[in-house]
Amino acid sequence: MTTSYDVVVIGGGPGGYEAAIRAAQLGMSVACIERRLGKDGKPALGGTCLNVGCIPSKALLDSSHRYEETQKHLAVHGIDVQGVSLDVPRMIARKDQVVSQLTGGIAQLFKGHGVTWLQGQGKLLAGRRVLWTSLDGQEQTLDAGQVILATGSEPVRIPVAQVDGQYIVDSTGALDFQEVPARLGIIGAGVIGLELGSVWRRLGAQVVILEAQPEFLPMLDKQIGKETLKLLTKQGLDVRLKARVTGAKLDGQQVVVSYEDAEGAKTESFDRLIVAVGRRPVTEGLLAADSGVELDERRFVHVDSQCRTSVPGVFAIGDLVRGPMLAHKAMEEGVMAAEVIAGHATQVNYDTIIGVIYTHPEVAWVGMSEEQARAQGLQVKVGSFSFAVNGRALASHDAQGLAKFIVDESSDRILGLHVLGPQAGDLVHQAMIAMEFGASIEDLQLMTFAHPTLSEVIHEAALSVDGRAIHAVQKRRK
Ligand code: FAD
Ligand code: NAD
Repeated sequence: MTTSYDVVVIGGGPGGYEAAIRAAQLGMSVACIERRLGKDGKPALGGTCLNVGCIPSKALLDSSHRYEETQKHLAVHGIDVQGVSLDVPRMIARKDQVVSQLTGGIAQLFKGHGVTWLQGQGKLLAGRRVLWTSLDGQEQTLDAGQVILATGSEPVRIPVAQVDGQYIVDSTGALDFQEVPARLGIIGAGVIGLELGSVWRRLGAQVVILEAQPEFLPMLDKQIGKETLKLLTKQGLDVRLKARVTGAKLDGQQVVVSYEDAEGAKTESFDRLIVAVGRRPVTEGLLAADSGVELDERRFVHVDSQCRTSVPGVFAIGDLVRGPMLAHKAMEEGVMAAEVIAGHATQVNYDTIIGVIYTHPEVAWVGMSEEQARAQGLQVKVGSFSFAVNGRALASHDAQGLAKFIVDESSDRILGLHVLGPQAGDLVHQAMIAMEFGASIEDLQLMTFAHPTLSEVIHEAALSVDGRAIHAVQKRRK
């Protein structure tokens, strides 16, 4: 039997579920195929993001931050707390409860929008047909008016450190430790390494992060990256750059990691090791040999700027395609694909996709760094302002970091904002909105920001681009 849908989405992560809901809103009949089982063994929507990514990691970042605050940072407020103790299984259970609340919410949204959730595996066949293999192994071919591929990504595996799920884990395993490892090793000082490293450090682990590259977070503005490394190191994260891991083997209950750095070959023993060296697109079992969908040289599905693949009527979005592996990027591409199918002229603005690292303080950026702008031959002016003199940050005893604007000298156009500081992930949206509206830095300078707020740092950073910051002594430019 063949069933027809206007749109079949393969993958129910943030990209896929938003595409499905938007297509349904636009009046199309929609099915979304998702094969994932949640931690409880039941079928689950929400993809990496809700199940083993953004949400569980943020739940643990929040819990561990509260623990560290209560333990170490309340005395300064005149609050003495004794007998603080940690119940890791309860913390993990709360995280699991948040996950199931949200994944269940997507199932409800599907019901409410009339999206059919087909549990199991999807495979694109030639001629815009999709083979659905249900969780109990039944096969059915679907006729799809249009197909959206949204199968996401999975952790990169490296032969020198093979994940065993107990001592050597990937990010998913690192969200489920039932006790705090005394010594935790992490391969990769990327976003996952820093976020999960922060979680377990705050809970008491001694954390060593081995990073192969010489530069720390190369996508960040250099000045912000340098300050971030300084702060995280001060917190106790031991980040070792230019450290190339050559092996990891189990010795009793210890993971012995060998690596090479500028001084030569070294070894370190850890109770647990997290491998966090990047993610790769999931294409295995997705495309029939004659599907016609082309991959690029890095095995991402090749798409144009509106996520069309090489096959007419087949779109691909999210982590499966080029660009940053971020949930909000996947979501916007999902919405765009559905709208393009409906005949709208929607376009994602890839120049204003925000990046956030949810350490404390947070690191967030939009647009170019000073180095990227200069490398493009642009004449830039920059302005920065520190949280250390912001009234609200000081009142909250949370006054570390800075905000830095990168501005085009000739047009006054905002090219980027990079922030290290409290609530940086929220603050940076101000520059994203300004950039979307084509604002000049003067536009921001002329606006009134509420006092006392952290946002005043953004205002002062904007003023400082022209030497006009009020709460700093600067050389006047304008
Ligand atoms: P996914 O979320 O990976 O979803 C794809 C789904 O497709 C999966 O559920 C998979 O089971 C399913 N699937 C695959 N193949 C098939 C098939 N053949 N048939 C049926 N189903 C299939 N991003 C952020 O923006 N902010 C964060 O704070 C953040 N934190 C993260 C923390 C961690 C630890 C990790 C690992 C990632 C994090 N990310 C974060 C990245 C984010 O999770 C991804 O960018 C996002 O989930 C990508 O969405 P997607 O829809 O493209 O794919
Ligand atoms: P990443 O690309 O951010 O970092 C991986 C790091 O591992 C890099 O610095 C790389 O140089 C290093 N590395 C690679 N091979 C190595 C080796 N053999 N030895 C030592 N170091 C090595 O990848 P990730 O941290 O695994 O995260 C994967 C994706 O998930 C990212 O693209 C990120 O966008 C997404 N994510 C986003 C968030 C967020 O938005 N807050 C949080 C977590 C994950």
